[in-house]
Amino acid sequence: MFVGHYATALALKKFERRASLGVLFLAVQFVDILFFPFVLLGIERIKIIENFTQATHFELEYMPYTHSLAGSLFWAGVAYALFRWVIVKQQRVALVVALAVFSHWILDLLVHTPDLPIWSDTSPKLGFGLWNNAVATYLLEAALLVAALWLYLRSTKATSRAGKYAMGLFIVFLLLVNIVNIFGPLQGDSKLALAISALSAYFAFAAAAFWLERKRS
Ligand SMILES: [Zn+2]
Repeated sequence: MFVGHYATALALKKFERRASLGVLFLAVQFVDILFFPFVLLGIERIKIIENFTQATHFELEYMPYTHSLAGSLFWAGVAYALFRWVIVKQQRVALVVALAVFSHWILDLLVHTPDLPIWSDTSPKLGFGLWNNAVATYLLEAALLVAALWLYLRSTKATSRAGKYAMGLFIVFLLLVNIVNIFGPLQGDSKLALAISALSAYFAFAAAAFWLERKRS
């Protein structure tokens, strides 16, 4: 799953408004932000295969450290500890950030083919396989995002003209990006290029969320 993860970030903001939306945007993609550097370092593995599923051009071969259930819980725990005792030192903020990190695995579970290990690569692997249906994948991510946008707009108030429309436009932009992501052709077989485009998207979207959040209270 790609842009659908941001639905959790928008929804969690409602439960703890002191949590920064930009931080939540990074948190919901945290295990992917680790995954791509891990691939480049040879710690985890992805294989680029055109139309491996209807919605993706890759096989996720080996990712026990970032995308196992145990790994996700571990990284959520790390995020909790950092936000509880080092960064903001607020228990509820730490809890919400940890939930955001863990939510990635739950949403990935819906779309991935069975490639998400429970604890190690030899343990059973899970994935409900919605990626085998590109339209259903797109609609699920879109529905999650639109529902979360509605929650976010209801629980916050615009403090400027930009604040009124900008978040809605940003979500429309994410939905357009996801058309290319899900229905677009294979962009080449370079893992470095894939890592750079994924990571720049994650950081650019988080930067946008940091900016957008200041336009509403
Ligand atoms: Zn992932």
